[in-house]
Amino acid sequence: MSVIQPSADNGQIQPSQEKLVVAKFGGTSVADYDSMQRCADIVLANLNTRVVVVSASSGVTNLLVALTQANVNDERRLQLLKDIAQVQYRIIDNLQSQQEVAATIDKVLSQMAVLSESLLLNRSKAIMDELLACGELCSSTLFSAVIREKGVKSQAFDVRAVMLTDSHFGKAEPQIAEIAQRAQTSLKPLLADNIIVTQGFIGADIEGQTTTLGRGGSDYSAALLAEALQANAVEIWTDVAGIYTTDPRLAPNARPIPEISFNEAAEMATFGAKVLHPATILPAVRQQIQVFVGSSKAPELGGTWIRHQVNEAPVFRAVALRRDQTLLNLHSLQMLHAQGFLAETFATLARHKISVDLITTSEVNVSLTLDKTGSDSSGHGLLSESLLQELSQHCRVRVEDKLALVAIIGNQIASTAGICSRVFKVLEPHNVRMICQGASPHNLCVLVTESEAPQVINALHQNLFE
Ligand code: ASP
Ligand code: MG
Repeated sequence: MSVIQPSADNGQIQPSQEKLVVAKFGGTSVADYDSMQRCADIVLANLNTRVVVVSASSGVTNLLVALTQANVNDERRLQLLKDIAQVQYRIIDNLQSQQEVAATIDKVLSQMAVLSESLLLNRSKAIMDELLACGELCSSTLFSAVIREKGVKSQAFDVRAVMLTDSHFGKAEPQIAEIAQRAQTSLKPLLADNIIVTQGFIGADIEGQTTTLGRGGSDYSAALLAEALQANAVEIWTDVAGIYTTDPRLAPNARPIPEISFNEAAEMATFGAKVLHPATILPAVRQQIQVFVGSSKAPELGGTWIRHQVNEAPVFRAVALRRDQTLLNLHSLQMLHAQGFLAETFATLARHKISVDLITTSEVNVSLTLDKTGSDSSGHGLLSESLLQELSQHCRVRVEDKLALVAIIGNQIASTAGICSRVFKVLEPHNVRMICQGASPHNLCVLVTESEAPQVINALHQNLFE
Protein backbone atom coordinates (compact mmCIF):
# COMPACT_ATOMS: atom_id res chain seq x y z
CA MET A 1 0.00 0.00 0.00
CA SER A 2 1.30 3.44 -0.71
CA VAL A 3 0.31 6.28 1.53
CA ILE A 4 0.70 9.74 0.18
CA GLN A 5 2.89 11.95 2.28
CA PRO A 6 2.53 15.60 3.08
CA SER A 7 5.15 17.60 1.25
CA ALA A 8 7.04 20.36 2.95
CA ASP A 9 6.62 22.63 -0.06
CA ASN A 10 3.08 23.83 -0.06
CA GLY A 11 0.92 21.68 2.17
CA GLN A 12 -0.14 19.70 -0.91
CA ILE A 13 0.08 15.94 -0.81
CA GLN A 14 3.21 14.80 -2.56
CA PRO A 15 6.18 12.58 -1.82
CA SER A 16 8.28 14.21 0.85
CA GLN A 17 11.72 15.53 0.04
CA GLU A 18 12.87 15.67 3.66
CA LYS A 19 16.07 14.11 4.87
CA LEU A 20 15.27 13.10 8.42
CA VAL A 21 11.73 13.06 9.71
CA VAL A 22 10.60 12.29 13.24
CA ALA A 23 7.01 11.05 13.26
CA LYS A 24 4.92 11.06 16.41
CA PHE A 25 1.70 9.11 16.84
CA GLY A 26 -0.71 10.00 19.62
CA GLY A 27 -2.78 7.68 21.80
CA THR A 28 -5.74 7.29 19.45
CA SER A 29 -3.36 6.63 16.54
CA VAL A 30 -1.87 3.64 18.36
CA ALA A 31 -5.04 2.59 20.17
CA ASP A 32 -5.29 -0.86 18.60
CA TYR A 33 -3.79 -3.15 15.98
CA ASP A 34 -5.63 -1.68 12.98
CA SER A 35 -4.67 1.85 13.95
CA MET A 36 -1.05 0.79 14.38
CA GLN A 37 -1.15 -0.77 10.91
CA ARG A 38 -2.30 2.50 9.39
CA CYS A 39 0.43 4.40 11.21
CA ALA A 40 3.08 1.90 10.12
CA ASP A 41 2.00 2.49 6.52
CA ILE A 42 2.42 6.23 7.01
CA VAL A 43 5.92 5.67 8.40
CA LEU A 44 7.00 3.30 5.64
CA ALA A 45 5.67 5.49 2.85
CA ASN A 46 8.32 8.08 3.61
CA LEU A 47 11.87 6.76 3.46
CA ASN A 48 13.05 9.72 5.49
CA THR A 49 11.03 8.76 8.55
CA ARG A 50 13.62 7.02 10.70
CA VAL A 51 12.43 7.89 14.18
CA VAL A 52 8.94 7.18 15.47
CA VAL A 53 7.73 8.49 18.81
CA VAL A 54 4.59 6.98 20.30
CA SER A 55 2.16 7.82 23.07
CA ALA A 56 0.65 5.10 25.20
CA SER A 57 -2.36 3.44 23.55
CA SER A 58 -5.48 5.50 24.06
CA GLY A 59 -6.79 5.36 27.63
CA VAL A 60 -3.76 3.60 29.09
CA THR A 61 -2.19 6.66 30.72
CA ASN A 62 -5.52 7.45 32.35
CA LEU A 63 -5.67 3.91 33.75
CA LEU A 64 -2.12 4.29 35.04
CA VAL A 65 -2.98 7.62 36.63
CA ALA A 66 -5.92 5.90 38.32
CA LEU A 67 -3.45 3.35 39.69
CA THR A 68 -1.43 6.14 41.31
CA GLN A 69 -4.39 7.59 43.20
CA ALA A 70 -4.34 7.34 46.96
CA ASN A 71 -7.70 5.65 47.31
CA VAL A 72 -7.30 2.53 45.12
CA ASN A 73 -8.21 -0.62 46.97
CA ASP A 74 -6.76 -3.95 45.97
CA GLU A 75 -9.76 -5.06 43.98
CA ARG A 76 -9.73 -1.89 41.90
CA ARG A 77 -5.99 -2.06 41.51
CA LEU A 78 -6.16 -5.56 40.06
CA GLN A 79 -9.01 -4.55 37.77
CA LEU A 80 -7.03 -1.59 36.45
CA LEU A 81 -4.02 -3.82 35.79
CA LYS A 82 -6.27 -6.23 33.96
CA ASP A 83 -7.74 -3.45 31.82
CA ILE A 84 -4.26 -2.28 30.87
CA ALA A 85 -3.16 -5.82 30.02
CA GLN A 86 -6.23 -6.26 27.85
CA VAL A 87 -5.33 -3.29 25.65
CA GLN A 88 -1.88 -4.80 25.07
CA TYR A 89 -3.13 -8.33 24.43
CA ARG A 90 -5.71 -7.23 21.91
CA ILE A 91 -2.78 -5.96 19.86
CA ILE A 92 -0.46 -8.89 20.58
CA ASP A 93 -3.12 -11.37 19.46
CA ASN A 94 -2.86 -10.00 15.93
CA LEU A 95 0.90 -10.36 15.68
CA GLN A 96 2.77 -13.27 14.13
CA SER A 97 5.68 -12.83 16.53
CA GLN A 98 3.28 -13.19 19.45
CA GLN A 99 5.47 -15.12 21.87
CA GLU A 100 8.52 -12.93 21.65
CA VAL A 101 6.54 -9.70 21.97
CA ALA A 102 4.31 -11.09 24.73
CA ALA A 103 7.41 -11.94 26.74
CA THR A 104 8.57 -8.31 26.62
CA ILE A 105 5.13 -6.92 27.39
CA ASP A 106 4.62 -9.38 30.24
CA LYS A 107 7.75 -8.04 31.89
CA VAL A 108 6.34 -4.51 31.77
CA LEU A 109 2.97 -5.72 33.04
CA SER A 110 4.50 -7.43 36.05
CA GLN A 111 6.58 -4.35 36.67
CA MET A 112 3.30 -2.38 36.78
CA ALA A 113 1.91 -4.78 39.36
CA VAL A 114 5.00 -4.43 41.54
CA LEU A 115 5.09 -0.64 41.27
CA SER A 116 1.39 -0.19 41.97
CA GLU A 117 1.77 -2.37 45.01
CA SER A 118 4.71 -0.44 46.36
CA LEU A 119 2.71 2.77 45.95
CA LEU A 120 0.31 1.46 48.56
CA LEU A 121 3.09 1.74 51.11
CA ASN A 122 5.10 4.60 49.74
CA ARG A 123 3.40 7.30 47.72
CA SER A 124 6.62 8.33 46.07
CA LYS A 125 6.47 10.55 42.98
CA ALA A 126 9.43 8.70 41.55
CA ILE A 127 7.54 5.42 41.69
CA MET A 128 4.48 7.09 40.15
CA ASP A 129 6.53 8.22 37.17
CA GLU A 130 8.03 4.79 36.75
CA LEU A 131 4.53 3.39 36.66
CA LEU A 132 3.20 6.05 34.26
CA ALA A 133 6.06 5.30 31.87
CA CYS A 134 4.83 1.74 31.35
CA GLY A 135 2.15 2.77 28.84
CA GLU A 136 4.68 4.13 26.37
CA LEU A 137 7.07 1.25 27.00
CA CYS A 138 4.33 -1.13 25.86
CA SER A 139 3.10 0.83 22.85
CA SER A 140 6.63 1.34 21.49
CA THR A 141 7.40 -2.38 21.75
CA LEU A 142 4.17 -3.24 19.94
CA PHE A 143 4.51 -0.62 17.24
CA SER A 144 8.04 -1.70 16.44
CA ALA A 145 6.81 -5.28 16.05
CA VAL A 146 4.08 -4.10 13.66
CA ILE A 147 6.71 -2.42 11.49
CA ARG A 148 8.92 -5.51 11.52
CA GLU A 149 6.01 -7.61 10.39
CA LYS A 150 5.83 -5.43 7.32
CA GLY A 151 9.31 -6.63 6.46
CA VAL A 152 11.28 -3.59 7.57
CA LYS A 153 14.03 -3.54 10.18
CA SER A 154 12.88 -1.79 13.30
CA GLN A 155 13.93 -1.63 16.90
CA ALA A 156 12.24 -0.30 20.01
CA PHE A 157 14.59 2.12 21.73
CA ASP A 158 14.44 3.10 25.39
CA VAL A 159 14.34 6.88 25.21
CA ARG A 160 15.55 7.15 28.80
CA ALA A 161 19.06 6.58 27.48
CA VAL A 162 18.79 9.94 25.72
CA MET A 163 16.00 12.04 27.26
CA LEU A 164 17.84 13.45 30.27
CA THR A 165 15.65 15.58 32.56
CA ASP A 166 15.82 17.14 35.98
CA SER A 167 14.25 15.24 38.87
CA HIS A 168 10.95 17.12 39.00
CA PHE A 169 8.81 13.99 38.81
CA GLY A 170 5.50 14.49 37.07
CA LYS A 171 6.67 17.47 35.05
CA ALA A 172 10.35 17.09 34.45
CA GLU A 173 12.43 19.62 32.58
CA PRO A 174 14.49 18.25 29.67
CA GLN A 175 18.21 19.06 29.57
CA ILE A 176 18.56 20.20 25.99
CA ALA A 177 22.33 20.18 25.44
CA GLU A 178 22.85 16.81 27.06
CA ILE A 179 19.95 15.28 25.12
CA ALA A 180 21.52 16.45 21.86
CA GLN A 181 24.85 14.96 22.77
CA ARG A 182 23.36 11.63 23.82
CA ALA A 183 21.14 11.46 20.75
CA GLN A 184 24.10 12.02 18.45
CA THR A 185 26.19 9.29 20.06
CA SER A 186 23.66 6.61 20.95
CA LEU A 187 20.63 7.15 18.73
CA LYS A 188 21.87 8.57 15.44
CA PRO A 189 24.09 5.57 14.52
CA LEU A 190 21.08 3.24 14.83
CA LEU A 191 19.10 5.12 12.20
CA ALA A 192 21.19 3.94 9.26
CA ASP A 193 19.53 0.53 9.07
CA ASN A 194 16.66 0.67 11.54
CA ILE A 195 13.43 2.47 12.03
CA ILE A 196 13.66 3.42 15.66
CA VAL A 197 10.44 3.40 17.65
CA THR A 198 10.69 5.18 20.96
CA GLN A 199 8.58 6.53 23.79
CA GLY A 200 7.12 9.98 24.11
CA PHE A 201 6.36 11.52 27.50
CA ILE A 202 9.13 9.81 29.49
CA GLY A 203 12.72 10.52 30.39
CA ALA A 204 15.22 9.87 33.14
CA ASP A 205 17.15 12.03 35.55
CA ILE A 206 20.90 11.93 36.01
CA GLU A 207 20.59 9.01 38.40
CA GLY A 208 18.62 7.04 35.85
CA GLN A 209 15.32 7.39 37.69
CA THR A 210 12.35 7.51 35.34
CA THR A 211 10.61 10.87 34.94
CA THR A 212 7.66 12.16 32.90
CA LEU A 213 7.24 15.46 31.06
CA GLY A 214 3.61 16.12 32.04
CA ARG A 215 0.35 14.99 30.46
CA GLY A 216 0.28 15.18 26.70
CA GLY A 217 4.06 15.46 26.66
CA SER A 218 4.73 13.11 23.75
CA ASP A 219 4.54 15.89 21.16
CA TYR A 220 7.19 17.70 23.13
CA SER A 221 9.35 14.55 23.23
CA ALA A 222 9.13 14.25 19.46
CA ALA A 223 10.16 17.87 18.96
CA LEU A 224 13.03 17.49 21.43
CA LEU A 225 14.33 14.42 19.63
CA ALA A 226 13.98 16.17 16.28
CA GLU A 227 16.00 19.06 17.65
CA ALA A 228 18.62 16.74 19.12
CA LEU A 229 18.97 14.83 15.85
CA GLN A 230 18.77 18.00 13.75
CA ALA A 231 15.88 16.54 11.82
CA ASN A 232 14.27 18.37 8.93
CA ALA A 233 10.68 17.88 10.03
CA VAL A 234 8.50 16.60 12.82
CA GLU A 235 5.17 15.06 11.96
CA ILE A 236 2.52 14.98 14.65
CA TRP A 237 -0.07 12.40 13.65
CA THR A 238 -3.26 12.72 15.63
CA ASP A 239 -6.99 12.25 15.11
CA VAL A 240 -7.69 15.55 13.35
CA ALA A 241 -6.50 16.66 9.93
CA GLY A 242 -4.40 19.56 11.18
CA ILE A 243 -5.17 22.82 12.90
CA TYR A 244 -8.55 24.37 12.12
CA THR A 245 -9.75 27.96 12.15
CA THR A 246 -11.70 26.85 15.19
CA ASP A 247 -13.11 23.68 16.68
CA PRO A 248 -15.51 22.34 14.00
CA ARG A 249 -17.81 21.10 16.74
CA LEU A 250 -18.41 24.72 17.73
CA ALA A 251 -18.52 26.26 14.26
CA PRO A 252 -19.49 23.90 11.44
CA ASN A 253 -17.79 26.09 8.83
CA ALA A 254 -14.40 25.85 10.50
CA ARG A 255 -11.75 24.95 7.94
CA PRO A 256 -8.26 23.48 8.08
CA ILE A 257 -5.31 25.87 7.96
CA PRO A 258 -2.72 24.63 5.43
CA GLU A 259 0.15 26.74 6.76
CA ILE A 260 0.73 28.74 9.91
CA SER A 261 3.74 30.51 11.40
CA PHE A 262 5.57 29.36 14.54
CA ASN A 263 4.39 32.48 16.37
CA GLU A 264 0.75 31.96 15.60
CA ALA A 265 0.95 28.23 16.31
CA ALA A 266 2.61 28.88 19.64
CA GLU A 267 -0.25 31.19 20.62
CA MET A 268 -2.77 28.63 19.46
CA ALA A 269 -1.16 25.79 21.34
CA THR A 270 -0.94 27.90 24.46
CA PHE A 271 -4.40 29.38 24.35
CA GLY A 272 -6.40 26.99 22.35
CA ALA A 273 -7.20 23.64 21.06
CA LYS A 274 -5.40 20.64 22.39
CA VAL A 275 -4.06 19.74 18.95
CA LEU A 276 -0.49 20.38 19.99
CA HIS A 277 1.25 20.41 23.35
CA PRO A 278 2.32 24.05 23.86
CA ALA A 279 5.99 23.26 24.46
CA THR A 280 6.29 21.43 21.14
CA ILE A 281 6.96 24.58 19.21
CA LEU A 282 10.00 25.64 21.26
CA PRO A 283 12.52 23.07 20.02
CA ALA A 284 11.14 23.45 16.49
CA VAL A 285 11.69 27.21 16.63
CA ARG A 286 15.19 26.87 18.07
CA GLN A 287 16.29 24.68 15.17
CA GLN A 288 13.79 25.99 12.59
CA ILE A 289 12.36 22.53 12.10
CA GLN A 290 9.03 22.52 10.34
CA VAL A 291 6.18 20.74 12.04
CA PHE A 292 3.35 18.93 10.28
CA VAL A 293 0.07 18.08 12.00
CA GLY A 294 -2.22 15.57 10.33
CA SER A 295 -4.67 12.75 10.89
CA SER A 296 -3.37 9.20 10.96
CA LYS A 297 -6.90 8.05 10.15
CA ALA A 298 -7.03 10.11 6.97
CA PRO A 299 -3.51 11.08 5.86
CA GLU A 300 -4.83 11.82 2.37
CA LEU A 301 -6.60 14.90 3.76
CA GLY A 302 -3.25 16.59 4.33
CA GLY A 303 -2.87 18.79 7.36
CA THR A 304 -1.18 21.89 8.69
CA TRP A 305 2.45 22.89 8.23
CA ILE A 306 3.92 25.06 10.93
CA ARG A 307 6.98 26.94 9.81
CA HIS A 308 9.10 30.02 10.22
CA GLN A 309 8.12 31.71 6.95
CA VAL A 310 4.59 31.49 5.63
CA ASN A 311 3.09 32.80 2.40
CA GLU A 312 0.10 34.48 3.97
CA ALA A 313 -0.26 36.30 7.27
CA PRO A 314 -3.96 37.21 7.67
CA VAL A 315 -5.11 39.43 10.53
CA PHE A 316 -7.55 36.73 11.65
CA ARG A 317 -6.13 33.22 11.50
CA ALA A 318 -8.09 31.27 14.06
CA VAL A 319 -10.18 31.54 17.18
CA ALA A 320 -9.36 29.16 19.98
CA LEU A 321 -11.17 28.12 23.12
CA ARG A 322 -9.75 26.98 26.39
CA ARG A 323 -12.23 25.86 28.99
CA ASP A 324 -11.85 25.35 32.69
CA GLN A 325 -10.10 28.60 33.48
CA THR A 326 -9.52 29.88 36.96
CA LEU A 327 -9.20 33.58 37.61
CA LEU A 328 -7.21 34.70 40.57
CA ASN A 329 -7.94 38.19 41.76
CA LEU A 330 -5.46 39.67 44.21
CA HIS A 331 -6.18 42.86 46.06
CA SER A 332 -3.70 44.76 48.13
CA LEU A 333 -3.55 48.31 49.36
CA GLN A 334 0.20 47.82 49.49
CA MET A 335 0.11 48.08 45.76
CA LEU A 336 -0.89 51.73 45.78
CA HIS A 337 2.14 53.78 44.70
CA ALA A 338 4.35 51.01 45.98
CA GLN A 339 6.93 48.71 44.52
CA GLY A 340 7.46 45.02 44.67
CA PHE A 341 3.94 43.68 45.07
CA LEU A 342 3.92 42.02 41.66
CA ALA A 343 7.43 40.73 42.18
CA GLU A 344 6.38 39.13 45.43
CA THR A 345 3.26 37.63 43.87
CA PHE A 346 5.14 36.15 40.95
CA ALA A 347 7.87 34.82 43.19
CA THR A 348 5.23 32.97 45.19
CA LEU A 349 3.65 31.56 42.04
CA ALA A 350 7.05 30.54 40.74
CA ARG A 351 7.88 28.71 43.96
CA HIS A 352 4.71 26.71 43.43
CA LYS A 353 5.68 26.08 39.81
CA ILE A 354 2.61 27.89 38.52
CA SER A 355 2.79 29.51 35.16
CA VAL A 356 0.55 32.48 34.49
CA ASP A 357 -1.42 32.87 31.28
CA LEU A 358 -3.18 36.20 31.24
CA ILE A 359 -2.70 39.16 33.49
CA THR A 360 -4.34 42.54 33.99
CA THR A 361 -3.63 45.07 36.68
CA SER A 362 -5.33 48.10 38.18
CA GLU A 363 -4.28 50.41 40.95
CA VAL A 364 -4.77 47.94 43.78
CA ASN A 365 -5.74 44.72 42.01
CA VAL A 366 -4.09 42.19 39.83
CA SER A 367 -6.06 39.52 38.00
CA LEU A 368 -4.48 36.51 36.45
CA THR A 369 -5.36 33.18 34.91
CA LEU A 370 -3.33 30.04 35.40
CA ASP A 371 -1.84 27.82 32.78
CA LYS A 372 -3.09 24.28 33.25
CA THR A 373 -1.90 22.57 30.09
CA GLY A 374 0.77 20.00 30.48
CA SER A 375 0.10 20.01 34.19
CA ASP A 376 1.63 17.45 36.48
CA SER A 377 1.35 13.87 35.16
CA SER A 378 -0.49 12.73 38.24
CA GLY A 379 -3.15 15.37 37.58
CA HIS A 380 -2.76 17.26 40.83
CA GLY A 381 -4.67 20.52 41.07
CA LEU A 382 -2.77 23.72 40.54
CA LEU A 383 -4.28 25.87 43.26
CA SER A 384 -3.05 24.15 46.37
CA GLU A 385 -4.06 25.18 49.85
CA SER A 386 -0.49 26.11 50.66
CA LEU A 387 -0.29 28.44 47.66
CA LEU A 388 -3.51 30.22 48.60
CA GLN A 389 -2.33 30.56 52.16
CA GLU A 390 0.98 32.00 51.10
CA LEU A 391 -0.69 34.53 48.81
CA SER A 392 -3.17 35.48 51.53
CA GLN A 393 -0.30 36.62 53.66
CA HIS A 394 0.24 39.68 51.54
CA CYS A 395 -3.08 40.28 49.80
CA ARG A 396 -6.74 39.39 49.68
CA VAL A 397 -7.34 36.49 47.31
CA ARG A 398 -10.49 35.80 45.36
CA VAL A 399 -10.84 32.76 43.12
CA GLU A 400 -13.37 32.57 40.29
CA ASP A 401 -13.87 29.53 38.16
CA LYS A 402 -16.20 28.20 35.44
CA LEU A 403 -14.55 30.61 33.03
CA ALA A 404 -13.29 30.09 29.49
CA LEU A 405 -10.59 31.77 27.51
CA VAL A 406 -11.34 32.80 23.95
CA ALA A 407 -8.25 33.71 21.95
CA ILE A 408 -8.34 35.35 18.57
CA ILE A 409 -5.10 34.46 16.82
CA GLY A 410 -3.67 36.28 13.87
CA ASN A 411 -1.15 38.85 12.72
CA GLN A 412 -0.59 42.53 13.48
CA ILE A 413 -3.63 42.51 15.71
CA ALA A 414 -2.23 45.23 17.91
CA SER A 415 -1.29 47.48 15.00
CA THR A 416 -4.27 47.19 12.67
CA ALA A 417 -7.02 49.78 12.97
CA GLY A 418 -10.55 48.60 13.62
CA ILE A 419 -9.77 45.15 15.02
CA CYS A 420 -11.16 45.78 18.47
CA SER A 421 -14.35 47.35 17.24
CA ARG A 422 -15.01 44.38 14.94
CA VAL A 423 -14.42 41.96 17.78
CA PHE A 424 -16.39 43.85 20.40
CA LYS A 425 -19.37 44.30 18.12
CA VAL A 426 -19.64 40.52 18.03
CA LEU A 427 -19.17 40.33 21.80
CA GLU A 428 -21.86 42.90 22.47
CA PRO A 429 -24.44 40.51 23.98
CA HIS A 430 -21.89 38.89 26.27
CA ASN A 431 -20.26 39.68 29.54
CA VAL A 432 -16.50 39.90 29.08
CA ARG A 433 -14.77 39.23 32.38
CA MET A 434 -11.26 40.16 31.27
CA ILE A 435 -9.46 41.35 28.13
CA CYS A 436 -5.82 40.99 27.18
CA GLN A 437 -4.46 42.64 24.11
CA GLY A 438 -1.32 44.39 23.03
CA ALA A 439 1.51 42.30 24.42
CA SER A 440 1.70 40.16 21.34
CA PRO A 441 0.85 41.12 17.77
CA HIS A 442 -0.63 37.66 17.40
CA ASN A 443 -3.50 37.49 19.86
CA LEU A 444 -6.42 39.15 21.52
CA CYS A 445 -7.83 37.21 24.46
CA VAL A 446 -11.08 37.54 26.34
CA LEU A 447 -12.34 35.67 29.34
CA VAL A 448 -16.02 34.74 29.36
CA THR A 449 -18.17 32.33 31.34
CA GLU A 450 -17.90 28.67 30.34
CA SER A 451 -21.56 28.54 29.48
CA GLU A 452 -21.38 31.42 27.01
CA ALA A 453 -18.12 30.32 25.40
CA PRO A 454 -19.51 28.09 22.62
CA GLN A 455 -21.82 30.89 21.46
CA VAL A 456 -18.99 33.40 21.58
CA ILE A 457 -16.74 31.17 19.48
CA ASN A 458 -19.48 30.52 16.97
CA ALA A 459 -20.34 34.20 16.60
CA LEU A 460 -16.69 35.25 16.28
CA HIS A 461 -16.04 32.60 13.65
CA GLN A 462 -19.08 33.56 11.64
CA ASN A 463 -18.27 37.24 11.71
CA LEU A 464 -14.52 37.24 11.33
CA PHE A 465 -13.76 34.10 9.35
CA GLU A 466 -16.71 33.24 7.13
N1 ASP B 1 0.55 9.23 27.32
C1 ASP B 1 0.74 10.53 27.85
C2 ASP B 1 -0.59 11.19 28.16
O1 ASP B 1 -1.62 10.69 27.90
C3 ASP B 1 1.55 11.40 26.97
C4 ASP B 1 0.92 11.70 25.62
O2 ASP B 1 0.06 10.96 25.16
O3 ASP B 1 1.31 12.68 25.02
O4 ASP B 1 -0.59 12.26 28.72
MG1 MG C 1 -1.60 13.82 22.95
